Amino acid sequence: MATTPTTLFILGASGDLTSRLLLPSLAALLARQPQRRVVLRGSGTEEQDHEAWKKLVGVAFSDFPGTIDRVTIGDYTSADVTDRDAVAALVDTLEPGTVLYFALPPAVTRAAIAAMQGMTLPEGTVLAMEKPFGDDEKTARELNEMLTALVPERQIFRVDHFLGRSMLLNLMGVRLANRIWEPVWSAEHIESVLIRFDESIALEGRARYYDKAGAMIDMIQSHLLQVLALVAMDPPASIDERDLRDAKASILRATHVLGDDPAQSSRRARYTAGRIDDRDLPSYADEDGVDAARDTETLAEVVFEVANDRWAGVPFVLRSGKALAAKKSEVVVTFRPVRHVPKGLAGSPVDGGRLTFSLGPDEMRLKLHVTGGDDPFALRDEELCADLGEGQRRSYEEVIDELLDGEVALSVRADEAEECWRIIQPVRDAWASGAAPVEDYPAGSTGPEDWATS
Ligand code: NDP
Repeated sequence: MATTPTTLFILGASGDLTSRLLLPSLAALLARQPQRRVVLRGSGTEEQDHEAWKKLVGVAFSDFPGTIDRVTIGDYTSADVTDRDAVAALVDTLEPGTVLYFALPPAVTRAAIAAMQGMTLPEGTVLAMEKPFGDDEKTARELNEMLTALVPERQIFRVDHFLGRSMLLNLMGVRLANRIWEPVWSAEHIESVLIRFDESIALEGRARYYDKAGAMIDMIQSHLLQVLALVAMDPPASIDERDLRDAKASILRATHVLGDDPAQSSRRARYTAGRIDDRDLPSYADEDGVDAARDTETLAEVVFEVANDRWAGVPFVLRSGKALAAKKSEVVVTFRPVRHVPKGLAGSPVDGGRLTFSLGPDEMRLKLHVTGGDDPFALRDEELCADLGEGQRRSYEEVIDELLDGEVALSVRADEAEECWRIIQPVRDAWASGAAPVEDYPAGSTGPEDWATS
């Protein structure tokens, strides 16, 4: 960890992401790392004097007393970053090694990067890009081309806060440092993989973004395909920025929607009025800021295949949704049944055991078929459970930690970002053509009744 101050310059410093996630996470990081020093700069379109900017930072740091003393609160620039002259003036003030965080609406980010073209950024400038990264493969590629014209790929950080560093490392540690898995980690022994991110929260005021994205783009296209890549990749020689990302990219290139008909391999649904805990929730279609005619899904499930020798034929089911009965974020690897259960052991297991990684709080569960109940000859299921560590760090705390240290290995590389759009395009096309109609589920339920993953 660097002890010399790093400058974090947030474009969009008056926005929701900054006040709710970036600044509190920076404070949490400083509480954990007393040696770290940061110079904080910000900008937005609205005028904001230095006192107002200091107050904004102070409020966001209030849960971590003392940490504010380790931040030098630099200037707040009022500028329209889509304007080339304004951007040039701003670039002129950058110190070498500044982390420039684009906490801006996606269209503004794109316009700002376009406005920067042809400018020389100081040595070591890191560009941190928020999601969504483009709208499709073409726009992601255009954005990548503009970014790499400004700085080398190793200085571009495509933030995936969902994939917190400790979760990723846990997943890799369990999978790659235990000899028991690799011999069975293939279509020969694995029947299916489910990667699920169910939330019990609903829109939380984010209709403006979510109604245009929907569950598939919000979660499956971005985060869950990254998890798929980690689960399916060949063991890399190292987890440095090149080896790890080569291994993931190779899997993403081999990934496509399972079968010939994307409408058959995907389904979508949205919540109707219901109750979660003690809260009544209106139908998604009646939520503020939602355009019901858009048919945006709040629950999506898509089945993919990784078409290579290790995985061909194994369904990778990726599912995510909102306003569901319970939060459930996990990778479930189901093994094929054993070829023969010895006669005399009662009960026929339907699978050959199951390995579940929870995607935070981090834990691992291994479901085994065992005997030892009331009837000593009868098989029953038992789970071995392991706590994989703290799991308490805020996801943006880990992002900021990596950013300030210039560690890009766990962020998404340009080609991966493009592949993830390419992979889901057939489903988008099928849905746009009216195939796979939107189903319903009551808020607070586990999803439509006949969905096997519910
Ligand atoms: P907000 O709309 O709350 O904030 C946008 C910020 O951008 C404001 O500070 C605004 O400044 C600034 N801004 C807008 N237009 C310009 C411009 N032309 N020039 C300079 N600054 C401008 O957005 P969010 O904070 O919610 O989101 C920011 C990014 O983070 C988005 O890409 C979003 O997808 C992503 N994200 C957000 C999450 C969240 O929970 N909010 C979670 C994950 C990702 P001013 O107010 O002064 O105009």
